[in-house]
Amino acid sequence: QAKVLNRGRATPFSADLSEAARARIHLLTDLRAAFSAERLFLAYQPQVDLISGKVLGAEALLRWQTQEGHSIPPDRFIPLAEQSGLMIPIGEWVLRTACRQLRHLADLGYPDFRMAINVSHTQFREPGFVPMLERVLEDCRVNVELLELELTESVAIGHIDSTAAKIAEIRDMGISLALDDFGTGYSSLSILKQLKVDRLKIDRSFISEIDGRGDNSGIAELVIALGRQLDLITIAEGVENEAQRSHLLQLGCKEGQGFLFARPMPATELETWLTARDNLDAV
Ligand code: C2E
Ligand code: MG
Ligand code: MG
Ligand code: MG
Repeated sequence: QAKVLNRGRATPFSADLSEAARARIHLLTDLRAAFSAERLFLAYQPQVDLISGKVLGAEALLRWQTQEGHSIPPDRFIPLAEQSGLMIPIGEWVLRTACRQLRHLADLGYPDFRMAINVSHTQFREPGFVPMLERVLEDCRVNVELLELELTESVAIGHIDSTAAKIAEIRDMGISLALDDFGTGYSSLSILKQLKVDRLKIDRSFISEIDGRGDNSGIAELVIALGRQLDLITIAEGVENEAQRSHLLQLGCKEGQGFLFARPMPATELETWLTARDNLDAV
């Protein structure tokens, strides 16, 4: 039917392509404008101890709300920012903003609260990355032990030696490293041995397979066992229900983040959320 309706309408493939390209350029122009106008912001999603429910810290997640009020998901605009080089200044802004928030939370009375920050592969590979990190840390005066950088395994593709060296340099500064979305990429055991990190983040897709009836946790179980073997902490992302929480605990995973505990929220909301929990604990 569709064929009949479209007959005679000239929509050659190249025209479609250039339309997609135009849409991307448009989005990128809007993103540049939003970044210059300081309209990007961070949302913070708590990470908790799966046994006690104690808040361990949060992951900072980039948010873009257009002037018309639409939220554009990071999965859509970050790849564009990466291709255009815009992710370098945006990434520095993310790091600085999250570190300021970490400093602020320490001042508010949460001295052990830790902060996980995503670093994209172009940002990480950029030669100026470590000096930039040092500058931000000096400006923000945060306790570096509370800082964790999240990388995906893709940073190492084709650059295993230089990646391992940079990771070692960053860990020497006292900062922790986590491998994000673990299990979805080019996970190879030898890469994992060469990249010395502190934490494995089990990708949400493997957590959503856990249905509480026990049989669908294969990959999550493997990652947790791997973590134990290599002496790494495992954290589950996308924990949405109680069945998943208790199953993860049975498998030996002790940390998690997900809608079961809290959604990502702007800084002021996070502070209110933390205070409300303090009051609950005090009862
Ligand atoms: P990610 O680092 O794996 O972040 C976790 C994603 O899972 C977040 O999506 C979070 O909102 C979502 N999530 C957490 N718990 C749940 C849950 O229980 N259920 C469901 N359905 N989703 C959950 P978000 O914020 O859309 O971010 C998507 C990705 O964009 C991130 O995945 C990360 O790769 C990237 N990203 C976000 N912020 C930054 C940033 O500042 N820098 C860089 N380089 N990448 C970022
Ligand atoms: Mg992450
Ligand atoms: Mg992740
Ligand atoms: Mg993910």
